[in-house]
Amino acid sequence: MTEKNMDEIRITAFETTCSSCEHVFSVPALSDFSYGQNIFYSEDGRYYIHANAFEASAKLIHVLLPKDCGSELFWFSLATITDKINGKSLSVNARCPRCTSASVKRNLGKETGDMSVVKATYHDFVFLPREDIIRKVKETVKQFIETNTQ
Ligand SMILES: [Zn+2]
Repeated sequence: MTEKNMDEIRITAFETTCSSCEHVFSVPALSDFSYGQNIFYSEDGRYYIHANAFEASAKLIHVLLPKDCGSELFWFSLATITDKINGKSLSVNARCPRCTSASVKRNLGKETGDMSVVKATYHDFVFLPREDIIRKVKETVKQFIETNTQ
């Protein structure tokens, strides 16, 4: 039996295959009906974080982003300001835990059970001075544009 933890959420995991090294592993994924929610993955592919767009910190970054910003920029930015997990930064891309490649293929027809996923926190971001928060968001937008125009 597992102790119920308020900071964790149970999410269905699916079989996922790495296109680079063919490693097969489980990754939690949300259904299309999970509006306003997302999963962020650590850069080493070992950790998952559940993010909710309606939380105060997520709302804060939303109002600081350009008015007409799409959901891609929003999630990219939120992942960027999410507190690191074991020193690893997070992104919206699932990664292979063996070779860290982001070229992974999820098999949504193959559930592998429930996984406990920790909820995102944004302490490092919200405790920054006001000017630094604004600067950080500007940098994130710039970074997003750069990564998407390569
Ligand atoms: Zn791999």
